[in-house]
Amino acid sequence: MTNRITELFNIKYPIIQAGMIWCSGWELASAVSSAGGLGIIGSGSMYPHILEEHIKKCKKATDKPFAINLPMLYPDIDKHIELIIKYKVPIVFTSAGNPKTWTKTLQEKGIIVVHVVSSVKFALKAQEAGVDAVVAEGFEAGGHNGRDETTSFCLIPLVSEAITIPLIAAGGIGTGKGMLAAMNLGADAVQIGSRFVTSTESSAHANFKAHIINSNEGDTLLTLKELTPVRLMKNPFFDKVQAAYSARASTEELTTLLGKGRAKKGMFEGDLVEGELEIGQVAGLINEIKSAKEIIDEIVSEFNEAVTKQKELNL
Ligand code: NDP
Ligand code: NDP
Repeated sequence: MTNRITELFNIKYPIIQAGMIWCSGWELASAVSSAGGLGIIGSGSMYPHILEEHIKKCKKATDKPFAINLPMLYPDIDKHIELIIKYKVPIVFTSAGNPKTWTKTLQEKGIIVVHVVSSVKFALKAQEAGVDAVVAEGFEAGGHNGRDETTSFCLIPLVSEAITIPLIAAGGIGTGKGMLAAMNLGADAVQIGSRFVTSTESSAHANFKAHIINSNEGDTLLTLKELTPVRLMKNPFFDKVQAAYSARASTEELTTLLGKGRAKKGMFEGDLVEGELEIGQVAGLINEIKSAKEIIDEIVSEFNEAVTKQKELNL
């Protein structure tokens, strides 16, 4: 298949692996890119010297295009931008901030810029800022999430009608059937996070991967809206947050409870009790750890089967 997204990124399949803090380093990004999708290094959790190491390793591991996700609230963002330009990273996905800030600087260096949004309003703002494409991420998504709680089923057609630039759908997609559904709703491509967290090449801790495999529907919830809304897997830390809400905790008390480095503790160090476990609702559908290539091949063949079945549909 060739479309606006495969042409923009020069990739085989319109499948993008989400940039995910502590889970998507060079090993996952290069494996996804080599398998025909677009791999993304999640730089939000990387000190600049760590990001540099990951860019170098990713370039060595694949000759295919890859991208870097740049959350705009990252404290040392200037240093990350310098590295992206220095190493000629071809594509950047920006998130959690104003797309106007860095888009032109990056594009002037020949870098393709995609911005992640969770509403029509921000999609239009991103288009106005001149980005090359947007990711519209629905409420089902893991980790940091929009405040409006718009599900992918509603968000994708709304954004698709509002913008003219290419649209990548995210949130709740982890299978070929889900991919076809998103494309029927108006997306040019899909961005998949949770499914790749459980890949062999993901840098998520084995405890976290096993926990996802064993999880079911209803095991994640969106919380901490007063700070940054985040979808987490229920665990003893999550219970503490809920108890704090019951006790009518203030924003300051919630900030103290969250502390620093909870995401690293849970997802990278495998502390399932005290750590923050960011994962999407689609976790309930994930039952096996597979390599990134196996995941992509499976999604592609499931997508093709679903297309064949769809052709038989007729009201
Ligand atoms: P390497 O195979 O080069 O090295 C693995 C390294 O990970 C080891 O040096 C080890 O440090 C470190 N490490 C293992 N467990 C932890 C932990 N719980 N907390 C902190 N560090 C840990 O790995 P990669 O090439 O895959 O990665 C290169 C660097 O990038 C490493 O420093 C790694 O920690 C980091 N990384 C960061 C990610 C992020 O999202 N921020 C994702 C993936 C990797 P030591 O020998 O000192 O114990
Ligand atoms: P915390 O403030 O709890 O912890 C910061 C973590 O980031 C630590 O684990 C730290 O590693 C690591 N880190 C890497 N580089 C730096 C740096 N330059 N300065 C300070 N810390 C750094 O934040 P979270 O774990 O909740 O979030 C981590 C990152 O995720 C944020 O910095 C932000 O970039 C990103 N984020 C992305 C969002 C999005 O995409 N929508 C939303 C919210 C956050 P160590 O423990 O080894 O010191």
